[in-house]
Amino acid sequence: MSYLFTPPAPISVPIRGLSERFPVRRIYCVGRNYEEHAKEMGFTGREPPFFFLKPADALVVVEDGQTGALPYPSLTQNYHHEIELVVAIGQGGRNIPAAQALEHVYGYAVGLDMTRRDLQNEMKKQGRPWCIGKAFDHSAPIGAITPAAQAGDIMNAEISLQVNGADRQRSHISKLIWNIAETIEHLSTAWELQPGDLIYSGTPEGVAAVVPGDTLVGQVTGIGSLTMKVSP
Ligand code: MN
Repeated sequence: MSYLFTPPAPISVPIRGLSERFPVRRIYCVGRNYEEHAKEMGFTGREPPFFFLKPADALVVVEDGQTGALPYPSLTQNYHHEIELVVAIGQGGRNIPAAQALEHVYGYAVGLDMTRRDLQNEMKKQGRPWCIGKAFDHSAPIGAITPAAQAGDIMNAEISLQVNGADRQRSHISKLIWNIAETIEHLSTAWELQPGDLIYSGTPEGVAAVVPGDTLVGQVTGIGSLTMKVSP
């Protein structure tokens, strides 16, 4: 087989303790999955989960112990952080019941759902797709994946984000409106999940803007941290 031009290299994320890497297929994201964040965005109550996607090549993959570079994106004056627990799917399926959903999880990572909030808000107002606000280049930083068996009690882990050493977001995975198993149940009714899929599970309250020069440190207890520096 020959190609018109060189196909892009496969996108992959390091796995803690292994030399093999996790090859990425798709990135699914869950919207408004913590009550206090839903409130700060102007919504209340438990609504069915909803999803959007980012392209796999929007990932900024940060090797363990490194600081990732996060280029300030074009077109925005309000570039927001959203710290999230990322679920790495190791076994695919459709219509996966919540009771079996965790068997489909390979591991977990710390991720950031970076958002051009001004563009997202404008698209919301006009009833248009969120892509320009959510699915832009470099919008999905991620750290190394920790296999589920080594991730400890992830469902009760603390999730936090500091910017320049000051707390911005701090909550617990137990506060997810739709927990990881329920999220997989819902998502797999709409798409057939495959190994290599990532799910950004939603962000707690405290989302706010960052600017060039800022350093972001995200953490989820038991699966390590993710450090990013915003570049001009
Ligand atoms: Mn998000």
